[in-house]
Amino acid sequence: KKMERLQKVIADAGVTSRRKAEKLIEEGRVKVNGSVVKEMGTKVTPNKDTVEVDHVPIDREEPVYYLLYKPKQVISAVSDDKNRSVVTDFFEEETRRIFPVGRLDYDTSGLLLMTNDGEFANLLMHPKNKVFKTYVAKVRGRPSKESLHRLQTGIELEGRKTAPAKVKIKSSNKKTNSSIVEISIHEGRNQQVRKMFEEIDHPVIKLKREKYGPLTLENLRPGEKRKLKPIEVKQLK
Ligand code: URA
Repeated sequence: KKMERLQKVIADAGVTSRRKAEKLIEEGRVKVNGSVVKEMGTKVTPNKDTVEVDHVPIDREEPVYYLLYKPKQVISAVSDDKNRSVVTDFFEEETRRIFPVGRLDYDTSGLLLMTNDGEFANLLMHPKNKVFKTYVAKVRGRPSKESLHRLQTGIELEGRKTAPAKVKIKSSNKKTNSSIVEISIHEGRNQQVRKMFEEIDHPVIKLKREKYGPLTLENLRPGEKRKLKPIEVKQLK
């Protein structure tokens, strides 16, 4: 296990913010392995060194990683002020404070990672981490070759071009005037897929995320989840 700064370990345990943790250390209210530590750079090994704040040991949570098949009409958050269902509703037996890695729109279904590991979540959401996410979109009409080419090479959204996307038409239905299109992108801009199709005048009717890097939904049904295997966590890091 790797060593971490004392103030980070305190903050990660949910005791307080990192800034306030530094204050606790300065005030002599933090003990490591039984002795008061006032030095700010002190490093500790989580789950090995014991850390106490005001004589109370902090319980550092074991990290946990889940893959959830988010149903549509669920908010990607831990709570909602309008009392709509949220992704943590599917984890009632999980006592750790998990949260979603990024977001899927309310009406988007599909693969969503959930964890209590903030560092892992930040890593995955960082733009330099180019993990491809694959979506299946039902869109209005049938996009022309030119339109698909625009998606593939990048499209201007809010003054900035999207990175190249992989795009493939899976099927089209003349009767319903719609097509099923598979699109893979590694960026995670707000409502990116919907906006990209809006831009080529083929609005999204239905959207589902089927893949996240090497991970797929496999045999899960909406509302079901499974834990990631350690090897799968490693692959994403
Ligand atoms: N792009 C969108 O437009 N919506 C999502 O939920 C995910 C990607």
